[in-house]
Amino acid sequence: MTHPDRETSLDVRLIHWTGSLFPAYAAARVCYSKLGVEGIAPLESDEAMGIWLRDRVLSRGHWGILEHLDFQFAIRGISRACSHQLVRHRIASYAQQSQRYVDKAAFRYVVPESMRQCPEALDLFRETMNLLGDRYEQMQQLLHQAYPDESKEAVNQDARFILPNACETEMIMTVNGRQLLEISRKRLCSRAQWEIRALFERIRDLVQATVPVVFDNLGPDCAWDRCHEGGCAQAARYKRQPGW
Ligand SMILES: Cc1cc2nc3c(=O)[nH]c(=O)nc-3n(C[C@H](O)[C@H](O)[C@H](O)COP(=O)(O)OP(=O)(O)OC[C@H]3O[C@@H](n4cnc5c(N)ncnc54)[C@H](O)[C@@H]3O)c2cc1C
Repeated sequence: MTHPDRETSLDVRLIHWTGSLFPAYAAARVCYSKLGVEGIAPLESDEAMGIWLRDRVLSRGHWGILEHLDFQFAIRGISRACSHQLVRHRIASYAQQSQRYVDKAAFRYVVPESMRQCPEALDLFRETMNLLGDRYEQMQQLLHQAYPDESKEAVNQDARFILPNACETEMIMTVNGRQLLEISRKRLCSRAQWEIRALFERIRDLVQATVPVVFDNLGPDCAWDRCHEGGCAQAARYKRQPGW
């Protein structure tokens, strides 16, 4: 029997950001101002500060200024395979749902599109997920019976060895603007794995919808200078945009 309600999909929300471009604008202006930080007033809008930052600072490669902006994302509906890739980017902060404290009986899982398009593969995959779900619960029971004095966390921490890469996880990622550009360069590349690329496509859309101008160019390496992956059809689409 299959349980389609256990199949999950990507859900990303921008739950917090610095809220204004002024911290980055002030950081850039203080470098050139003899009046000190007290003498720096915000421009009339975030858009005006975004244009100023783009044309005077970012276009000259001073991306460090974007470290004064922070973004916090709530990420759900990704697999453990994806989260493992994400946390390799070390200049960001992460909090991830625990498989010790959270019971993963009837765990939800991510289904790759390749399997969705192939009925036989999809059947086999679903069947395997159901089997692993059952085995996980059996293992919890066995370990609980064998070690009655152990806590639920102790049982879960070993029962989870049965869980697959496809198992859904939930995370909070807090990252600064400069690192967001750096990670996007790698993960928006068409050669990045599809799930983490889809994650960064969502992140890109959220940031571009929230912050005027500064992140308009968020894209893979080929959007900035050159492809480091040997080239692909996408490279031509991402010609460097004016102002950068
Ligand atoms: C398409 C793709 C395929 C990949 N395939 C694999 C794979 O098969 N196997 C695998 O293991 N990984 C793989 N990775 C992950 C990759 O190797 C990196 O771990 C990941 O991209 C993060 O590296 P980073 O340099 O961007 O970030 P970070 O490691 O977070 O580093 C960010 C920056 O901080 C600095 N830095 C951080 N730590 C140090 C340090 N200790 N010393 C000096 N400078 C430091 C560097 O300037 C670095 O650029 C892959 C990544 C991509 C994009």
